[in-house]
Amino acid sequence: MKYTAIVLAAGKGSRMNSEVQKQYMTLGGKPLIAYSLEAFEKSAVDEVIFVTGAGEEEYCRKEIIDRYGYKKVAQIIPGGKERYHSVFEGLKAAAGSDYVLIHDGARPFVTEEIIARTMRTVREKEACIVGMPVKDTIKISDCENKVLDTPQREHVWMVQTPQAFSYGLIYHAYEKILAQPDCGITDDAMAVEKMCNVPVCLIEGSYRNIKITTPEDLVTAEAFLRQQALN
Ligand code: C5P
Repeated sequence: MKYTAIVLAAGKGSRMNSEVQKQYMTLGGKPLIAYSLEAFEKSAVDEVIFVTGAGEEEYCRKEIIDRYGYKKVAQIIPGGKERYHSVFEGLKAAAGSDYVLIHDGARPFVTEEIIARTMRTVREKEACIVGMPVKDTIKISDCENKVLDTPQREHVWMVQTPQAFSYGLIYHAYEKILAQPDCGITDDAMAVEKMCNVPVCLIEGSYRNIKITTPEDLVTAEAFLRQQALN
């Protein structure tokens, strides 16, 4: 069985308000993107497809892949305008895989343990995503910010990546959803939920598996690293 990780590092990350794209920002002396590449390098996945911004492939090969010696990175390919375009490019490049694990490169705290759990579950269930139960109460609002509903907290999860699927299932789901005029999906499971009659299984990730999105996330990430250094 061939497992391929698609690590996403395209997009501008405009919510970071920084001149340097967030994936190349330094965290604990290394580019942010190096952390997830390292976790997949040490995991049991067979290969990694690294999706970067158009025109950034050479920089990434030299300054990240070769510099840190990641041997599992089989291809570096340009992504697209939206995250879902980048994922579809990754899926095309992953042809021949049995399972794919799609991961936001902006989540540096993914661990080998989370990856192993995801690989075990996808083999059994065909579609699984990591996440954690929410800690706050969540409200659903209308477009005027008036509360419409309060879902039962024990059934509300915040989802993370990796999100893993059998290759045929996710390729088919993406192909169908991208053919629609305004697909608007914000994670990969949504493509399967909307287009295929296959349940998506939630599995435990970690409250540390945060996505670096805004400047305060970097402060949190530095604190996690400091704490890891003490352990
Ligand atoms: O922008 P956001 O933080 O939601 O991005 C999540 C992940 O998707 C990041 O790792 C980012 O590099 C990636 N992405 C991408 N192509 C895009 C937009 C985002 O690969 N067009």
